[in-house]
This record gives sequence, C-alpha cells and structure tokens, in this order.
Amino acid sequence: MFEKILIANRGEIALRVLRACRELGIKTVAVHSEADTEAKYVKLADESVCIGPAPSGLSYLNVPAIISAAEVTDSEAIHPGYGFLSENADFAERVEQSGFVFIGPRPDTIRLMGDKVSAKDAMKAAGVPCVPGSDGALPDDPKEIVKIARGIGYPVIIKAAGGGGGRGMRVVHTEAALINAVTTTRSEAGAAFGNPTVYMEKFLENPRHVEIQVMADQHGNAVYLGERDCSMQRRHQKVIEEAPAPGIDRKLIAKIGERCAEACRKIGYRGAGTFEFLYENGEFYFIEMNTRVQVEHPVTEMITGIDIVQTQIRVAAGEKLWFKQRDLEFRGHAIECRVNAEDPFKFTPSPGKITNWHTPGGPGVRVDSHVYNGYTVPPHYDSMIGKLITYGDTREQAIRRMRIALSEMAVGGIKTNIPLHQELMLDARFIEGGTSIHYLEHKLADRNEVKKS
Ligand code: ADP
Repeated sequence: MFEKILIANRGEIALRVLRACRELGIKTVAVHSEADTEAKYVKLADESVCIGPAPSGLSYLNVPAIISAAEVTDSEAIHPGYGFLSENADFAERVEQSGFVFIGPRPDTIRLMGDKVSAKDAMKAAGVPCVPGSDGALPDDPKEIVKIARGIGYPVIIKAAGGGGGRGMRVVHTEAALINAVTTTRSEAGAAFGNPTVYMEKFLENPRHVEIQVMADQHGNAVYLGERDCSMQRRHQKVIEEAPAPGIDRKLIAKIGERCAEACRKIGYRGAGTFEFLYENGEFYFIEMNTRVQVEHPVTEMITGIDIVQTQIRVAAGEKLWFKQRDLEFRGHAIECRVNAEDPFKFTPSPGKITNWHTPGGPGVRVDSHVYNGYTVPPHYDSMIGKLITYGDTREQAIRRMRIALSEMAVGGIKTNIPLHQELMLDARFIEGGTSIHYLEHKLADRNEVKKS
C-alpha cells in the first residue's frame, strides 16, 4: 500500500479522498490555491502545498506545480478527484513518467474514452449497445452526410468528438437545416476543443440518464456496482441522483452491467469508471464513458456497502479486487441532492461567507461537504458546496428521510438550492419515479410562466 498520496483537487472531493486515505492509514498531501489556504480540509492533511493563485488555470490545472509538489513531499501516488485534471490523458502520462502512480486508468485508456468517436467504436466492438448513428466521424461530402441522416431518421444530433460538459452538440429536425448545423458544430468544436471532428446520432426525444458504475483491477478482474439514475438535470448538469434506477427490469440492468464489465476486461480498464447511457422504451444506448470517480458515487456506496474511493486506491496500488460480482448485493435505495451556492430560482452563483451551517443527521443520512460555519465560498470554482445523501430500505423511505434532512439543514449568509430540492422531494412525478432528462427544465420553465402571469 502507498505511504503517501497527493490529492490534486479541492472541496468536498478532496476531503472525501482524504478520509479514504486516513482510513487506509495513508499520509496525505493537500495541494491548494491561494483561495483555499484557510480551508479546514487543507489543515486536516498531513502536509499542504500552495500551487498557485485562485484561478484554476494557474493552480488546480497547473501540471508542473502539482508534479513538483509531489516531488518535494515524496508522494507516491496522485488522486485527481473529478473535474480539473482527472480526465486529462497528458496529465496522467506526466504523472507516470515522473515516477508516480496515477489513481485512475492508463493514459491511453483515458485518451481512447476521451474521444467520443473512438469510445463509441470501442464500445460497439465490446458489445455495448450504442445510440444508432454515423459509423464514426462524419465525412466532408454534404451528399454523404444527407444520406447518413436519412438512414438514421430525424431528429438527429450532431456531436463533437472532443465535446464535454454538455457543449458541442446541435439537434437537427429537418434536412434543410442539416448541412448548416454540421458546419457550425464543426467550427465551434475546432475552436472550443481543438478538434473539429463531429459525428451524428439519432436524437432520442424522451430518454432517462442511467449510468453503470464499474470497478476494475490490474489483474483482469472487473465488476459492475449497479446503476444510477441521474435524469434530474438542469443544463445537462445533474441535480439529483439515485440508485437503483426506479422501474427498470433488474435482469436488463444485470445484462448491461455485465457487458460494461466485459468491456473493461477487453480494453484493460483499471480503476473506477462510469458508462453513461440514455434509456428509452426499455433500451439502453451508450453515450460516453467517464474515466474517474463521479460526484454521485455515494449513492452506489450506500446500496452496495463498497467504498469506491478506497477501492480506487487499493487497485491502483496493485491489489486484486477482493469481491466478485456474485458477492455484490444491491440493498435499499439511496438519493443524493447536490447542494449548490446559488439562487434557487435564478441559478446565479452565490459565493460568500457562510454565517450559519447546520447539517442534518440521524439514521440513513450522510453529508459529504468540506464546508463549516465561517467558511467563505470562493467565487472562482464550481458552486457545489456539498452533497446530502439519504438511504432507506425503500425509495419512499429515502425520500422521506431526504425531506426531513433538507428541513433540518440550515445555511446562512449565502443562497443555496435547498428550496428547489425541497420542492422536488414533494413533486408528484419525481415521487412516481422515472422522469426523463427534460423533466426538470420543463418544470422550471412552467414555474417561470406561473411567476410571470
Ligand atoms: P457531455 O460529455 O458534454 O456531457 P454527452 O454525450 O454525455 O456529452 O451528452 C450530454 C447530454 O446531452 C446527455 O445527458 C443528453 O441529455 C444529451 N444527449 C446526448 N446525446 C443525445 C442523443 N443521442 N439523444 C438525446 N439526447 C442526447
């Protein structure tokens, strides 16, 4: 096992990794920007190194500074968390070339999955069902493009191979709009991602977002840890996640999960990963893979009893997976609400000093947050300040516990989206379960209409 790990991230995930390390008896190094110097989790780490000023481009994305911090502290491995450098293949390569272990997949796997065209090709070859679409990248010839779209059937979606974060996509409803849309998406993709390659998919009208968590070691073993439903989204950003996904046939989950685990074995995947799917009319369609730990990993931990972050660390150190698929049991139901420092109606960020912080507790309640009374939410980063997770024997119990937890939670000095979560926990369609990825946007649009009239 490692003696010392450097955590190349900030906020709640830095604290989450720190806790996993402490439980495993591993020393920690927290790297931080000037804006995070006073954060308590930085002080909890055995050592800390300031890697630059507040803007993340100069600190959390500053590869030479992070590598030097690992060198001066004699760290053995680097945990990238999520976001920032976690899916940057060049960073993973630099880490390994500098003699450290990257806690994540091999750099070439990150590269393969980071390009959505090559990722889809690899998944098709591994037998994972994909959204019907172009066979790889779109050609230049407009006639060919028109032919491909006719073959798929409208509406179609044009997507950038290098896209991410919900950017670089355009829906096309008619042939008249097709070529223009392809040209525009291409030039935008070239400018934003440095890669003008685009591809085409059937646009699914009312899908759910259901993803499969996988875990693989370096000895050819891979398992799936069940699924998560992350359909409650605003601007392609997840707001609420839950496990299991309500109303989906368990046999189908097992079949798709097994395909994902098999794909991991085929590509020599290592560590934690997530296969994201759209689910519509009883079918799963792969859209992309995330080669890192996800924000929503706790709901899976709650229903499996597996500590995903500790497992990441242990397999990175070379341990064999100590459980098999048949040892895994999915028990009960877990829900996660992402708590953001933002206006609950307008969604504008609300950074600033927290003057009151009271978190809920009791059976089946988990709070993952780095925040405390007197903490100042810096304006430079993502607005998520924590995650509230509840567990119950049934989905109803998890929802009931979430309502109580939300009502106990008090955050003063800044605005949060807790009122939105409270509204959603009472929403008839959410309570029923199985809403599509458009549900929240539609609900929010209706809410604005009511306010205007
Ligand atoms: P990103 O990497 O930018 O998150 P994804 O490929 O994961 O891109 O897609 C993001 C979101 O875009 C999906 O969660 C879904 O809401 C929508 N989307 C992507 N592909 C399709 C499709 N073929 N049909 C319908 N919606 C899609």
